[in-house]
Amino acid sequence: MKYQTLSGVHDILPEDFVYFNKVQKTVESVAKYHGFSRIETPVLEFAEVFSKGTGSGTDIVEKEMYTFRTKGGDLVALRPEYTPVIMRSYIEHGMHNQPQPIKLWYLGPCFRHERPQAGRYRQFNQFGFEVLGEQNASLDSQIIQMSYDVMKELGFKNISIEVNSIGDSECRPYFKKILISYFKSRRAALCPDCQRRLKENPLRILDCKEEKCQRVKAGAPQIIDHLCENCHAHFKDVLEFLDELELPYTLNPYLVRGLDYYTKTVFEIIENSEDGKAQGTLMGGGRYDGLSKILGGRDTPACGVAGGMERIINLLGSREDKAVVKSKKPEEAKIFLAQLGQMAKRKGMKLFEEFRAAKIPVAESFSKDSLKAQLRSADKMGAKWVLIFGQKEALEDFITLRDMETGTQKEIKLDKVVEEMKEKIKSLKN
Ligand code: ATP
Ligand code: MG
Repeated sequence: MKYQTLSGVHDILPEDFVYFNKVQKTVESVAKYHGFSRIETPVLEFAEVFSKGTGSGTDIVEKEMYTFRTKGGDLVALRPEYTPVIMRSYIEHGMHNQPQPIKLWYLGPCFRHERPQAGRYRQFNQFGFEVLGEQNASLDSQIIQMSYDVMKELGFKNISIEVNSIGDSECRPYFKKILISYFKSRRAALCPDCQRRLKENPLRILDCKEEKCQRVKAGAPQIIDHLCENCHAHFKDVLEFLDELELPYTLNPYLVRGLDYYTKTVFEIIENSEDGKAQGTLMGGGRYDGLSKILGGRDTPACGVAGGMERIINLLGSREDKAVVKSKKPEEAKIFLAQLGQMAKRKGMKLFEEFRAAKIPVAESFSKDSLKAQLRSADKMGAKWVLIFGQKEALEDFITLRDMETGTQKEIKLDKVVEEMKEKIKSLKN
């Protein structure tokens, strides 16, 4: 029997890490610049963090969560997203006692039992920014700006930002009623899922991707016309900040996002193809002022965004700028250490450690015994110098340095090698 990965999950191979690292570095530098600190939480949580936090009526909790009972009897879940977990952590560690707002970023695996397809995995990586403890509209726009910056810096050209406000507990219940009465009279034109949603969560109908529902949706009432004073003022502030920042956003009055905890601002970053067609959501987020109380904390306004690493990496990988990303390889060794014989191999490994301590990159092939094969490797990787450590050299504690361009050779005493190579590397850089 040959084993394979489970359906919907994937290995991240060395060649994928070129992109993975690139995205991570970009996220990290944007986060750092804005004063966000990294947080990581366990992959396992009590299932209630999500059934309560994310919400029992969401796709994530209803259909996609990996839940199981432990031997001790706890009902636990593999994290399907970070946001409720970050809030759990904020409450658990009393972060409200620190100066507010608390700014956090994260990157790590999430699990959702979805139907596997392009850009949709069962284990995937999310990164995100969360700012907790303050309600100022400038924070919403800062999160949007950071999301946009990550995408820009990764080289995405046709991205758009869609924003909306979905109100709060003051104005949303009333809007839900209006929405229900609109959809009720068009019930037959909705997909079966949406007919069910009509009872439980009519806002989610606006989120439906079915063609027939899209048509019904087009005439539906819009929540921005029904926001309470507070939500209206907040949304106006957010848009003013976005205008000032000259961010290319569009209002999408039907954007609701699939999660229960959102209040006020919601937004998505979408990549469009050349002909302007949406290619899928790369990042999504919004404000979630009610989440803390749901999880048993005190009133804590908060706002955040999450992005999908794999979706971004897939797009980066299918692009022409692949070459640009690929060419940014880690620092390459200019020196190759070749050895011949058991003693030279042993001493060579020790010398290699000395190079590492001196932070000089050196390539090697300790598993090879033939000098010819090693020289071939050195040539292939374009080494400028080869340090040859043969039997005679090992016995008498010196090394033969060969310049690969000129073919000239010279001998260096073993305890001078690192120092001399350091000088050579330095002169190369000048
Ligand atoms: P979608 O509408 O595509 O299902 P979502 O609303 O469920 O997305 P979020 O919960 O907002 O997604 O997660 C944030 C981001 O994580 C998404 O914009 C997407 O880039 C990524 N993402 C979500 N689910 C998956 C998945 N199953 N596989 C890979 N990436 C995912
Ligand atoms: Mg989803």
